Amino acid sequence: MAYVTTKELLADAVSHRYAVGAFNCENLEMAMAIVAAGEACRAPLIIQTTPSTVNYASVGLFAAMVRELAENAKIPVALHLDHGSSYELCEAALDAGYSSVMIDGSKESLEDNIALTKRVVSLASEKGIPVEAELGTVGGKEDSTFSSGTAYTDPDDALRFVRETGCSSLAVGIGTAHGVYKGTPVLDTGRLSLIKDKLVSAGLELPLVLHGASGLSEKAIRECIARGIAKVNFATELRQAYTEGLKEYLLSDTDCFDPKKYGRAAMKKVQEAVIRRIEVCGDLA
Ligand SMILES: [Zn+2]
Repeated sequence: MAYVTTKELLADAVSHRYAVGAFNCENLEMAMAIVAAGEACRAPLIIQTTPSTVNYASVGLFAAMVRELAENAKIPVALHLDHGSSYELCEAALDAGYSSVMIDGSKESLEDNIALTKRVVSLASEKGIPVEAELGTVGGKEDSTFSSGTAYTDPDDALRFVRETGCSSLAVGIGTAHGVYKGTPVLDTGRLSLIKDKLVSAGLELPLVLHGASGLSEKAIRECIARGIAKVNFATELRQAYTEGLKEYLLSDTDCFDPKKYGRAAMKKVQEAVIRRIEVCGDLA
């Protein structure tokens, strides 16, 4: 159908109060399974890659693959750089044809995060590409960086940050973590409403993004969407589904040496996981 930017996908989500699922892909099979799930649900979606994933292959390879999938898909698809770790990596993704980038300056001071995000916004806007930024931090392991605690996003800082950077969407820290949860996470959903209200009353109703959603209950995700989240990221559970499908197949057919066979088994598991999460996000046509 179409290769689109996250700006148009998320604007619709904000006005109709649902969330677009953003699914991390590591390879061809995961990308194909994610698109197949979106088509089965007739839901637009975002495919995203982290810095370590594009370091494993390249931004050019992922851009070419996802663009080809998107142009032949029955749904709109965007390709997003998740947790862009530097200005240079965002630039490389933009040059390769990514239709959305994130610059993650959340580990910097507020001033440095603003300065870095502004530079990326200015670069991306030349190509009409939206930029996601992060304020406050999501705990746990994301790619090669680890943050032990969660810094909650301050609503006043959020307003200042959005005003000064001109970012298109904002990832907020409300108690979620990347990776596998030990115990049940306690989310500060009240804070999410405060951030949303602060922005809306200043005339800045931009999409808020929830990271670390793998392992959150459906109820928790739905509550976050009701309070203003318009993009939800799922990574860990898709890696788990892919690996589980692959292992199950290889254990059941130990003589197999055809990557297509275990690839299909892994894709089936990923597709099922993505469909479950699309249903929670509510972006059904
Ligand atoms: Zn994240």
